Amino acid sequence: MSSSQKTAILSVYNKTGLLDLANGLALQGIRLLASGGTAKLIREAGIGVEDVSSITHAPEMLAGRVKTLHPAVHAGILARDLESDEKDLAEQNIDKVDYVVCNLYPFKDTIAKVNVTIAEAIEEIDIGGVTLLRAAAKNHSRVTILSDPADYPSFLEELRSGEVSEASRKLYALKAFEHTADYDATIAEFFRKRYAGDGVQHLTLRYGANPHQKPAQAFVESGKIPFKVLSGSPGYINLLDALNSWPLVKELKESLDLPAAASFKHVSPAGAAGLDDSPLACAYARARGADRMSSFGDWIALSDEVDAVTARIIGREVSDGVIAPAYTPGATLFFRLIPTMSPQALKPANSDYKLPPQALIDLTVATIALKYTQSNSVCYAKNGQIVGLGAGQQSRIHCTRLAGDKADNWWFRQHPRVLDFKWKKGTKRPDKSNAIDLFVSGLVPKKVEGDPEREQYESVFEEVPTDFTPEEREEWIKQCTNVSVSSDAFFPFTDNVFRAHRSGVKYLAAPGGSVMDQAVHEAADKCGMVFVHQETRLFHH
Ligand code: 5GP
Repeated sequence: MSSSQKTAILSVYNKTGLLDLANGLALQGIRLLASGGTAKLIREAGIGVEDVSSITHAPEMLAGRVKTLHPAVHAGILARDLESDEKDLAEQNIDKVDYVVCNLYPFKDTIAKVNVTIAEAIEEIDIGGVTLLRAAAKNHSRVTILSDPADYPSFLEELRSGEVSEASRKLYALKAFEHTADYDATIAEFFRKRYAGDGVQHLTLRYGANPHQKPAQAFVESGKIPFKVLSGSPGYINLLDALNSWPLVKELKESLDLPAAASFKHVSPAGAAGLDDSPLACAYARARGADRMSSFGDWIALSDEVDAVTARIIGREVSDGVIAPAYTPGATLFFRLIPTMSPQALKPANSDYKLPPQALIDLTVATIALKYTQSNSVCYAKNGQIVGLGAGQQSRIHCTRLAGDKADNWWFRQHPRVLDFKWKKGTKRPDKSNAIDLFVSGLVPKKVEGDPEREQYESVFEEVPTDFTPEEREEWIKQCTNVSVSSDAFFPFTDNVFRAHRSGVKYLAAPGGSVMDQAVHEAADKCGMVFVHQETRLFHH
């Protein structure tokens, strides 16, 4: 061959567009070398091509396992325009390769087949092709690597107009690296499932975010997954809830040295509590009680070994699963996880002002809960438990209002009239929760003859309660005091402070950084609140 003639090596499994490409290369006077099947197709189309063996002087071996793996190929691809590299090539009589065209054996298609054997899959692991791709992509400052038939037409156009630009070579190289990375990830996944054992390095999930999303799995790339499934089969959202709720209770317990519980729904806490002098059961009852409506079908996290009493309390509710460090033999629960990871503890921000101990506990509960809540988020806490949490809103005031309305509802649920409701015998707990929620939110359906919503509302009561008057509401909410509020990022406007004030908030914690900080502090002062600077923004998604 003449020393100025360029060389292309072609070795493709997917032969789409191959002949047009080979023709285009040949028309530019480029020497074509190709592996067995690729060469055959090109030759049959009447285009001049040589077998790779014409430079390796070795036949394809081991039923195709070794085709292009040879220094004559790879030194030709990897050589730089350096004197020392030129010398090495000349000594071995090797020509430089300028273009590599390669795509890989269809490993994905093979393993997608029902009942594929490991031996069948192994034969589809491409070795030489990956080496061609990586070598050419590595040396993209000189070599062009084409791994996608969709790129052939634009490549030929550029080639016809002169040379392939550096910018194009870079993008082709990137594509080749992505191709091999994806290929290797698929191979690793295949063997992880077969060799690592379910529940060790990977876990088959019931389904993804939705039941039609199957198959689904969770895995770690090294080591073991940090929990054990003791019974049941978690879905993807269960897993996210478990992995968020567990660090929450762990941090809460480490920060307060009290048993802690959390009730999660859709990857945000509906409630959390760390309680003084209370067993775990009580902490869970409070966490669940923060927002019973949202906690229906919750994921539970408990900081301590689950005892029989806690299990009994949980058993009365509708829940999806539990994550806890241990379970006493009497604690029979449906779907349980045991964590083995230990998250970092969050230290409450220091303040010159000495917060009363209960306010410090409440702000800690609220702030740690926010750390594991979808942002934006604002959390109200009282007596060591969440009483209102606004999650996942795009605007902060909407979080503050949502959480404030929930906190108000929580407070109204403690009203003697509500505690004294006369339920019809046999009314289920969720139906009671729904009726109470309508009552405390002031959304009781009007008394209209034959209205089905009103009929359903009345059907759960032995004695239908009298709605609160506006005066009664005002009187009762006034009695709710010393509430704490934490925000995962700064308050951008004073309206947040004023809304919190309406729900009896005395202690506010938020990071600074807004141009409105000064105005927000002044508003808090006017409302007689204590503003605690929490130094870290706690966005979470
Ligand atoms: P052909 O159809 O040309 O015989 O084979 C093309 C396929 O072989 C391409 O998918 C390419 O990635 C792969 N390939 C190229 N060289 C080698 C090699 O040395 N060993 C193996 N196992 N596959 C190779």
